Parts: sequence; structure tokens; C-alpha cells
Amino acid sequence: MPARDAVREGSSLRISAQGQDGETFTRDADLVLVAVGVRPDTSLAVAAGARTGLKGAIEVDEHMRTSLPDVYAAGDRVVTHHRLLGVTWLPLGTTAHKPGRVAGENALGGNRRFAGSPGSQAVKVFDLVAARTGPREHEVLVSGKDWIPATTASSPDDHKAYYPGATPIAIRVTGDIGSGLLLGAQLVGRRGRGDLQARRHRPDRRASLGPGASPAATG
Ligand SMILES: Cc1cc2nc3c(=O)[nH]c(=O)nc-3n(C[C@H](O)[C@H](O)[C@H](O)COP(=O)(O)OP(=O)(O)OC[C@H]3O[C@@H](n4cnc5c(N)ncnc54)[C@H](O)[C@@H]3O)c2cc1C
Repeated sequence: MPARDAVREGSSLRISAQGQDGETFTRDADLVLVAVGVRPDTSLAVAAGARTGLKGAIEVDEHMRTSLPDVYAAGDRVVTHHRLLGVTWLPLGTTAHKPGRVAGENALGGNRRFAGSPGSQAVKVFDLVAARTGPREHEVLVSGKDWIPATTASSPDDHKAYYPGATPIAIRVTGDIGSGLLLGAQLVGRRGRGDLQARRHRPDRRASLGPGASPAATG
């Protein structure tokens, strides 16, 4: 829900926002993070005649070739080739530097191909870490692939509960019932735990969902 107003009230900030019922409500906050999103700045490439695609990002193939002869591109301004979903747009450092190396090498006559991004990312908010790799179930449903997603959710402890300091990690895993392909996973846990496990996972690797997975388990 978008915030409408932030007014300083003594040492805190009073935020006004519109709730889902259309009513305005207020909350006091110590800190406000403003997320405005990003969009690709493609003016130079567009002026030169380069074709753009998803979200207005510059179209490139897996060799990072644009639609212009001998012009290669990489980074936030170009579409991202995703290992499972095809063409997406993920403006991140990891999806900028690897295709950047491919673009640079190919511009010098090489023949490298970007293998695609698994869409892995992690964010830390204080000591809470959320990490994901591969698509979530709602992304699978609109992917145009003939996958039938099944999702399981669990929240095991991050280590044996009889040792002190165990905290739960919320884990959600989505796979395709038809092929048994493990598609994506998301983890939320305390610092230094959830992020590592999601990053190690390779969603393009074939893996069994196990006997408990069925469309009824979706959630
Ligand atoms: C605050 C912040 C935090 C981020 N954290 C993460 C993170 O934790 N993990 C992650 O994966 N990604 C993160 N990102 C995203 C990541 O930084 C970008 O996806 C990545 O840097 C994009 O690389 P790029 O080469 O496309 O663009 P940039 O890194 O922006 O490089 C573009 C360069 O071109 C230069 N330039 C622009 N116009 C001209 C011109 N006309 N002539 C010459 N030079 C020009 C700019 O000065 C700049 O140096 C973060 C981004 C921000 C803003």
C-alpha cells in the first residue's frame, strides 16, 4: 500500500497511507525506507536504433548482441536471460557483471554465451535475511510453460533445537509435478543462515519433489 505523507512528529515520523479498504491510516515510525524502483535508461541505444523489449530494456541475445550490428550490451539497461523463465529483467550486480564479461569478450571477437541467471537474490533487513532462487509459484503460473506447480512450506529450526540459539527458517519450495523439476525456493531466517542455502541451490537441476507433493499441497 503506497504511503501518502510523512510528517515529523517530535523524534519520530508519522506516516499516512491508504489501506486496502480505501481508508487512510497513520503509523509512527523511527525510520522510513523509500523504494522507488528502477527503469532502464536506454536513450543512447534507442537513438542509435537498438530494439528494446521487456520493461523497455535493450534486447540482447545470449551472446549479448543487440539488434545493431557489432554492438554488444550488458547491465541494468538490457533484458536478462533467465535459466527457467526465458527473457526477464533483473537489474542486479550479478546479472550485470557476468553478461558484461560475455559482451566484452565477444566484442573482441570471442564466442561466449551467457548461461542465464537462476534469479537468485538475497536481502538483509537488520538481522533478518530473505533469499530466493528460481521462480515463485505465481511466476510459474504466468510463465507460459506447461509446468504444474506444487509448493511446500515449512519452518524448521536452523540447527538442532537442543543447542541454544536455534531460530526457525521459513522455507517455501516450488516444483513441477509433471517433470519433477525443482523450480524455485525462498527462505527467510536470521542473519547468515537463510541466504546461503538459497544461493547454493541450482533451480535448473532436475530434482524430485517427493511423494508428499501434489497440487493439493499448493500454498
Ligand atoms: C543502492 C544500491 C544497492 C545495490 N545493491 C546491490 C546488491 O547488493 N547486489 C546486487 O547484485 N546489485 C545491487 N545493486 C544493483 C547493481 O548496482 C546494478 O545492477 C549494477 O551496478 C548495474 O551495472 P551496470 O554496469 O549496468 O551499471 P552501473 O554500475 O550503474 O555502471 C554504469 C556506469 O556508466 C557510467 N556512465 C553513465 N553515463 C555515462 C556516459 N554518458 N558516459 C560515460 N559513462 C557513463 C556511470 O557513471 C557508471 O559508472 C544495487 C544498486 C544500488 C543503486
